[in-house]
Amino acid sequence: MSTLVTGIAELVTNNPRLGAGPLGLVPDAAVVVADGAVTWVGPASAAPAADRRLDVGGRAVLPGFVDSHAHLVFGGDRAVEFEARMSGQAYDGGGIASTVGATRSATDEELRARLGALVAEMRAQGTTTVEVKSGYGLSVDDEARALRLAQEVTVETTFLGAHVVPPEYAGRTDDYVELVCGPMLAACAPHARWVDVFCEPASAHAFDDEQSRAVLAAGRAAGLGLRVHGNQLAEGPGVRLAVELGAASVDHCTHLVDADVDALAGGSTVATLLPGVEFSTRSPYPDARRLLDAGVTVALATDCNPGSCFTSSMPFCVALAVREMAMTPAEAVWSATGGGAAALRRTDVGWLGVGARADLAVLEAPSYRHLAYRPGVPLARTLDLSLAT
Ligand SMILES: [Zn+2]
Repeated sequence: MSTLVTGIAELVTNNPRLGAGPLGLVPDAAVVVADGAVTWVGPASAAPAADRRLDVGGRAVLPGFVDSHAHLVFGGDRAVEFEARMSGQAYDGGGIASTVGATRSATDEELRARLGALVAEMRAQGTTTVEVKSGYGLSVDDEARALRLAQEVTVETTFLGAHVVPPEYAGRTDDYVELVCGPMLAACAPHARWVDVFCEPASAHAFDDEQSRAVLAAGRAAGLGLRVHGNQLAEGPGVRLAVELGAASVDHCTHLVDADVDALAGGSTVATLLPGVEFSTRSPYPDARRLLDAGVTVALATDCNPGSCFTSSMPFCVALAVREMAMTPAEAVWSATGGGAAALRRTDVGWLGVGARADLAVLEAPSYRHLAYRPGVPLARTLDLSLAT
């Protein structure tokens, strides 16, 4: 069964061979999809016939957002901590422990309900691919449980046992790293595609260079791809470690020295920026321009989590990237789609053309520019192809 999507005022393909500029823009476009994949894109005037038809009425269509960094399996709520932070309290990652307690005591059903609600919230805002991390269980059973639940909603599951040192291991970080690299990894690897570590020597709760290296090496030996939380709170070894080990992505990149930028520019690791975190912790934003001007591949993601950033909105992150990080609207839209796909090493999402998944987002607007131009307005949604007639 094929479906012809028409009435597209502006199509973002992210393929410069298919249209104008880096976004591969096609005006007055049409898309044909069949069996979950794109089979044709081009000007509406040249569109082939299809079994069914869906007219989007002069709206813009773009690839569904690829949110490559989210923490969606957790219990509890930290609204009070957020409120305190807005009155001046600093963020140091320590509040994660309160979510750990609430997550451990939650039932599977409670965790599943929250996870499902957040994924639905994302989908309603145009996100069609989401990565989900563990990291609030921090015991062998609780981490494996988080990943089993995450697997119910996405193939992009990430083992983040090395998120923070749990309270029962306080002052014994090396012992905890041994647990993470041993029995915890063994229980989690069957449910994960990626391993991640919060490499942040400046935080008493996170992991230094050597500990991070051990976690990533063990994950790689277990067949997992590598991701790193790095350079969020201060300059540090995270970015260069990620590039050295060939991680798919290093996320945050808020505090960088020239050697970090040079390493990213010369490597294959994507720099994933999470401006919702700086917004929600009232911190300085990463220097996106410095990275882009150096030729680094930049992704945007939400980092949706109950502590440092509880937004599920990729459109909000696009608006922040443009307003606060001086990215152009086109750069921000690419980073939220094609960039996210690169950060997950996916070639089937983040663009629209023959062979891509039929993951389409539609805007209540004629152009992608409105994502930044109209912040906070619910313009984006995932296109429901079942509405075709
Ligand atoms: Zn994170």
